[in-house]
Amino acid sequence: MVRIEHIGIAVKELDQANELFKKLFGEASYKEETVESEHVTTSFFKIGPNKIELLEAKADESAIAKYINKKGEGIHHIAFEVDDILAEMERLRGEGFQLINDQPKKGADNKLVCFLHPKTTNGVLVELCQEIK
Ligand code: ZN
Repeated sequence: MVRIEHIGIAVKELDQANELFKKLFGEASYKEETVESEHVTTSFFKIGPNKIELLEAKADESAIAKYINKKGEGIHHIAFEVDDILAEMERLRGEGFQLINDQPKKGADNKLVCFLHPKTTNGVLVELCQEIK
């Protein structure tokens, strides 16, 4: 793994959260993007070399809606940048981690992504992401 790419935060209302995080960081979100396949709208902030992703559910079947219903708003996942997502998925499978998706999916921000099940990572939802070149 290369580095932490971003931290994902589940929010109920993106407009309200955008305003709040703009105040917190002193800078507005630089990008909003809806990922139809995941039923979420995302908003990205840059803080120096780091990124924060806010996620709002667009439908009840969205994983974000389920998460908020169960746990409320808050930190949802940590995303790690990888150079070769297929190789990293293979390696982690071999180490006994449970992958939520068998194949990388197209995520927000021009990335291929794969999630690790929190039950095999001490309760932390881990996202692997590789930039699509
Ligand atoms: Zn993410």
